[in-house]
Amino acid sequence: MELRVETDARTTTVDVTDRVADAISPDCDTGTCTVFVEHTTAALAIQENEPRLREDIEGFLADLVPDEGHAHDRLDNNADAHLRATILGPSVSVPIRDGSLALGTWQSILLVECDGPRTRRLSLTVLEG
Ligand code: ZN
Repeated sequence: MELRVETDARTTTVDVTDRVADAISPDCDTGTCTVFVEHTTAALAIQENEPRLREDIEGFLADLVPDEGHAHDRLDNNADAHLRATILGPSVSVPIRDGSLALGTWQSILLVECDGPRTRRLSLTVLEG
């Protein structure tokens, strides 16, 4: 199944936990849900949804990767976004127990937008068992 998520800034994080949880069939008691972002300038992370921490994540990625000076910028001027997304990766896997995402108390699934605002596609794959 697929989710579409709107982002509203060039760099931002969007908590998609509830949308992923709602997409899981109640028939699935135990399994694994893999969430995959189908883009090269956005990523996924499991982290605490705390506004200052989300700001820190954005700042941390900006500190790690300079905005300019990359070879790919000569093509479409967004190498920084590709590199930031590369650090985090495009997918997360979450166990399903008793029909629900078995996340820790402070864990949320965050879409990390590195080149928005855009509409992002997430694919969800549930493996039962
Ligand atoms: Zn590019």
